[in-house]
Amino acid sequence: MRSLIDIVDFSVEELDELLQTACDISEHPEKYANACRGKKLATLFFEPSTRTRLSFEAAMYELGGNVLGFSEASSSSASKGESVADTAKMISCYADIMAMRHPKEGAPYVAAKSASIPVINAGDGGHCHPTQTLADLLTIYRELGRLDNLTIGCCGDLKYGRTVHSLISAMSRYKNIKVVLIAPDELRLPKYVKYEVLEKNGMDYVETTSLEEAIPELDVLYMTRIQQERFDSFGEYERLKDSYVLTPEKMALGKPTMRVLHPLPRVNEISVKVDADPRAAYFRQALNAKHMRMALILKLLKEAEEGRQMNPVENALVNKLRCDNPRCITSTEQELEHIFRCVDSEREIYRCIYCESKKVLTLV
Ligand code: ASP
Repeated sequence: MRSLIDIVDFSVEELDELLQTACDISEHPEKYANACRGKKLATLFFEPSTRTRLSFEAAMYELGGNVLGFSEASSSSASKGESVADTAKMISCYADIMAMRHPKEGAPYVAAKSASIPVINAGDGGHCHPTQTLADLLTIYRELGRLDNLTIGCCGDLKYGRTVHSLISAMSRYKNIKVVLIAPDELRLPKYVKYEVLEKNGMDYVETTSLEEAIPELDVLYMTRIQQERFDSFGEYERLKDSYVLTPEKMALGKPTMRVLHPLPRVNEISVKVDADPRAAYFRQALNAKHMRMALILKLLKEAEEGRQMNPVENALVNKLRCDNPRCITSTEQELEHIFRCVDSEREIYRCIYCESKKVLTLV
């Protein structure tokens, strides 16, 4: 079944189509009020969420459909040890489409392989968050009127910030994009995104630790939260948590046309004083998220009716290499095949299809 696990599952044409549908939904919501009558969306949230879960639910209600699900792992059978694959099979009996958030990287992919309904990745650990990226693309498009010829600054936790990983992957599809990576040394962008997305696609990028120096050239400033829940040590989080705080003084250094995005929740990284600046687009971004999720649900349900399937993994190595990433779903899911795909045949680089980790691979 066609699912959305990673933003690159969709072509640029498909992204454009979703943007157009989302714009039409926001202008003519009445046209879509019964589009999902009789359909059910299951929201499976094994990790906390406010916007993502509620915007999925609002999206399905506004399409005339219904919603069932849970908002924390402790209220699901996962707390009794149920596997992700079993949960997905069972939910397929009750719903027409599911959105899953999970702390383990690759869990929604495992669900998609077992489910007989479309699965939407609503955030998997520090890996990716494709539906946030759909909201980000719509926001950039609506605010600036284009998705090419942009300088985008990503600031904060670029290591664990799944929204940034997905945004950079999506932007690699558009022309003349420059990415400015603003992060403390400890939270720099993972190498797999740097080498296999930015460099492989010939994208222009620079890394810096200074927000002030980066701001003047930016069209988009994408702020992110330093995510306490991803740190192994609380002390390390405390040391890094206030690395960047966007204030009106720093905003004054930006172009009048610059836009500030943030996937939210905000903790300390944007002063509330910035909210009144018309360039602060993060609350409009949250509204765009609902319209994009409506467009996505419509697309995947239509494709399910047409019997469209997920693309097979090319150059896959099954059970020949083992993933040693403790955050990967392979570390907890029983009897899961360890699957790697070749991303660089010359240097023989393989990546785990669940978490994209290269790390130390041990031949079985
Ligand atoms: N809401 C975003 C996410 O789920 C960003 C965040 O939590 O900081 O990744």
